[in-house]
Amino acid sequence: MPELPEVETVRRGLAPAMEGAVIARAEVRRPDLRWPFPPRMGARLTGARVLRLGRRSKYLLADLDRGETLIMHLGMSGRMVVSGLAAPHVPGRFHHDHPAPERHDHVVLHMEGGARITFNDARRFGAMDLTATDALEAHSWLATLGPEPLGNGFHAGYLHARLAGRRMPVKAALLDQRIVAGLGNIYVCEALHRAGISPKRAAGRISAGRIERLTEVIRATLRDAIDAGGSSLRDYRQADGELGYFQHSFRVYGREGAPCPAPGCSGTVRRAVQSGRSSFWCPGCQR
Ligand code: ZN
Repeated sequence: MPELPEVETVRRGLAPAMEGAVIARAEVRRPDLRWPFPPRMGARLTGARVLRLGRRSKYLLADLDRGETLIMHLGMSGRMVVSGLAAPHVPGRFHHDHPAPERHDHVVLHMEGGARITFNDARRFGAMDLTATDALEAHSWLATLGPEPLGNGFHAGYLHARLAGRRMPVKAALLDQRIVAGLGNIYVCEALHRAGISPKRAAGRISAGRIERLTEVIRATLRDAIDAGGSSLRDYRQADGELGYFQHSFRVYGREGAPCPAPGCSGTVRRAVQSGRSSFWCPGCQR
């Protein structure tokens, strides 16, 4: 499932094709994905200009000049592919031609100027909705989200307050989207290793100094992953179809039995199931 770095990478890939451009025609090929599309979605998108392509947690947000925002979620396996985008500085040259249509291409945005954005989602856990831009924060998908981990609202004082008194494992607390938005299994495992904190440690029993370190490494892990174009494990691709490559930088995720990569640690990476999901960690240096 794409996490924040993958969605941010897709956003950066789509922005040159979408921002400032008019949607000449929106092709909506089915009535729903995970949930029904909003009424008349194709007509409401067709002719609209995209003012800005933003992101909140794992949601892409296309603000339209009609006062509505298109909210998009990639679900488990959704892909947003851009094609026919004119290569910058090379008039008349295109990054790549339009790909042949595929079976699970559910929504296609034909942009004025020739670019095309195709949303392909074989498993149909993705979602799209349209809502008034000035009421965006109240939308049910966004209303309960905690702060963005790369934003100003996420800092050691905030996290310390939110974890105080909690007995739940810190792993579960960091996966709680109400505490911090956009983190999933991979980046929580990686950040906890960098911070030297066991995923099983009670959230309320981490010193202020270690929480400070944790907030720093969460940001650093996400930034490193965005720089690498995200992590491609199963279906995830960047918007230009390329794979991300942060998976080659994993320190613990998916590395059960491997030697711990932390300097000076002779431990071995272990796997345990917490709340139904695999945690990877090193008992040698994570306490
Ligand atoms: Zn270790």
